[in-house]
Amino acid sequence: MISSYQKVAVIGAGTMGNGIAHVFAMKGYDVTLVDVAPAALERALATIDKNLGRMVSKERITEADKAATLGRITTSSDLATAVADRNLVVEAATERFELKSQIFQQMDAHAPADAVLATNTSSISITRLAAVTKRSAKVIGMHFFNPVPVMKLVEVINGYDTDKAVTEAVMDLSKDLGKVPVSVNDFPGFVSNRVLMPMINEAIYTLYEGVAGVEEIDTVMKLGMAHPMGPLRLADFIGLDVCLAIMEVLHEGFGNPKYAPCPLLRQMVAAGHLGDKTGKGFY
Ligand code: NAD
Repeated sequence: MISSYQKVAVIGAGTMGNGIAHVFAMKGYDVTLVDVAPAALERALATIDKNLGRMVSKERITEADKAATLGRITTSSDLATAVADRNLVVEAATERFELKSQIFQQMDAHAPADAVLATNTSSISITRLAAVTKRSAKVIGMHFFNPVPVMKLVEVINGYDTDKAVTEAVMDLSKDLGKVPVSVNDFPGFVSNRVLMPMINEAIYTLYEGVAGVEEIDTVMKLGMAHPMGPLRLADFIGLDVCLAIMEVLHEGFGNPKYAPCPLLRQMVAAGHLGDKTGKGFY
């Protein structure tokens, strides 16, 4: 545990927020998990309990470690008081600019002046979020991957104004969590989605143009390129609405037609076929 960042708040207790709280608490950080929905906080604690339980049964941690980890997590529905004594706040709320912009204004107003404000956004500009605060040098992207306790990567995203010392601190913190951080700059899609989403979009075009079927496309990428999952299977897992939103960010952000979302992707999202979460997608 890096003691100058001992107190952490995580805003948003959904899929990502519970995982982020889990990994910080496991490494000895004092974590306050904040959500507007009390049910989300309950679900998050139950998920963390279950995931820690699995680690106990695999003998990776003891029952005592599990109890100590859970003991370091508190929950709150009141962002202002929850962040008041925190050294680091990691925002992992719903992916909408207006919402995140409001949350960043609140975080800025109520967290200590020297606290670092991070966001787990997949696609929103760090620089734009930093600009709504009075501490743009202390705003940074800390992009974890799902499931957070398992996935090693943290994409550390530097906004236009992010202080080098803040980047270094967040790189060190990520290593302390047992992760492998990679420092990148703030352009649409960062590195992860800039490379991944056009590949998924191209796989959808390949299907749309009748070059091959779903199984064939995924088999080529799995067996030929050693990808653990084919791009269409991965799109279903991520959610087709999320894939479309990220392609739109790339298309708008670069103004380059090569990022135009495939019409089939638009059509499936319009029909409500969003992948695993709706039970209908490419599979
Ligand atoms: P989610 O929908 O599972 O959870 C979002 C949570 O935010 C919900 O519990 C919601 O109640 C809460 N919330 C909404 N408004 C709030 C507010 N004003 N204050 C506090 N909490 C609020 O979403 P998720 O999948 O966990 O995604 C969260 C963030 O992580 C997004 O920015 C997303 O782009 C990013 N992300 C997601 C993934 C993924 O695979 N799911 C991967 C990397 C990054």
